[in-house]
Amino acid sequence: MTVSLIEEKFFETFGEEPDLIAAAPGRVNLIGEHIDYSEGFVLPFAINERTMTAVRIRDDSTVRVASVQRHNTIVTVDIKDVKPGLKGDWERYVLGVLWSMGITTGVDLMIDGHVPLGAGLSSSAALECSVATAMNHLFDLGFSLEQLARLTQRAENEYVGVPCGIMDQSVSLMATNGFALLLDCRDLSTRNIPFDVAAHGMELLIIDTQAQHALIDGGYAERRASCESVASILNVKSMRDVTMDQLDSYCHQLTNTEYLRARHAVTEMKRVLDCVDALSNADFIKVGLLINQSHISLRDDYSVSCPELDTAVEASLEAGALGSRMVGGGFGGSAIALINVSKTADTIQAIEKAFADKKFKAPRFFTSLPSQGAELLSRK
Ligand code: ADP
Ligand code: MG
Repeated sequence: MTVSLIEEKFFETFGEEPDLIAAAPGRVNLIGEHIDYSEGFVLPFAINERTMTAVRIRDDSTVRVASVQRHNTIVTVDIKDVKPGLKGDWERYVLGVLWSMGITTGVDLMIDGHVPLGAGLSSSAALECSVATAMNHLFDLGFSLEQLARLTQRAENEYVGVPCGIMDQSVSLMATNGFALLLDCRDLSTRNIPFDVAAHGMELLIIDTQAQHALIDGGYAERRASCESVASILNVKSMRDVTMDQLDSYCHQLTNTEYLRARHAVTEMKRVLDCVDALSNADFIKVGLLINQSHISLRDDYSVSCPELDTAVEASLEAGALGSRMVGGGFGGSAIALINVSKTADTIQAIEKAFADKKFKAPRFFTSLPSQGAELLSRK
């Protein structure tokens, strides 16, 4: 939807013009999976698809929120009642941001999201960050991007009640067109890494397997506990401080499962840094190999893949992808493939066929290029 269309929706819904419109994108993590909680590095990039927020300041304490994806139905609350614990549905992502940013004035907000919901592309962060960017401009709050990342994460953690890390919000706010964002999960420092796939005739294919296996919650907790247990046996703060030599020298004190989980964490952190080197040399062959190794490690050492994800990866590679891997927590969700633009249609067809042969639910596809982070689109 263009700026003029969301303006129209705003006017139809609230009977006034918005004061300003902001937007923030969804994201994909290129490499660095299941290592944020081990104080590792992650390398996400923003996708083209974004969520827009149009907002108007009011002269009372009423907040009205509507979303095109929720039939423009208006949710009305008083800003004084906006606190964690207030019951609600999707609008909690919006109200949580008003709460974490300390907003005390009434506003009308219209949302239009183009990030597919629940596909692992972080429509939730896109929503939060577009609202936060709109509020920061509307009230001239002057929060830095780092501060906005922490505030939007706090909204999702404490108001919505989802224990997410800070990666999604950081990249949605800080990403730059043609770059991936290296985020150090130990100190939250960031660095832009050139990732100009378009200039090299490539793009990222995102394959939403539409699979959801039951292990998600317990599986995540078990992986995290293994890494924490190994860190405490090795007497270090986190897996960040461990090398493969150290891990091997302690292997007799670890269970086989602990050793494998730890090996994923240690090798994945190295792969992220190797990927940064490969990208600075525009060596996409090497990037592809690292992406493949990441998948193998997630599948065999971390055991968080599933037949649908493995099928998506194998079919992409057979169709000529430079690299392919599962992304996100695992046990379902999405995979990515780094492909030549000319091979997009063939790759999609190959994956569709592989899924049909195995009688899996048909996957959904999105293509993307590394895009710009949150921005103000227009102001009255
Ligand atoms: P993901 O972030 O991977 O897309 P989540 O479950 O974290 O999945 O977030 C999806 C939720 O965010 C939706 O169920 C809805 O509550 C909210 N949401 C995101 N975008 C919109 C939107 N445009 N309109 C209304 N709600 C939205
Ligand atoms: Mg989310």
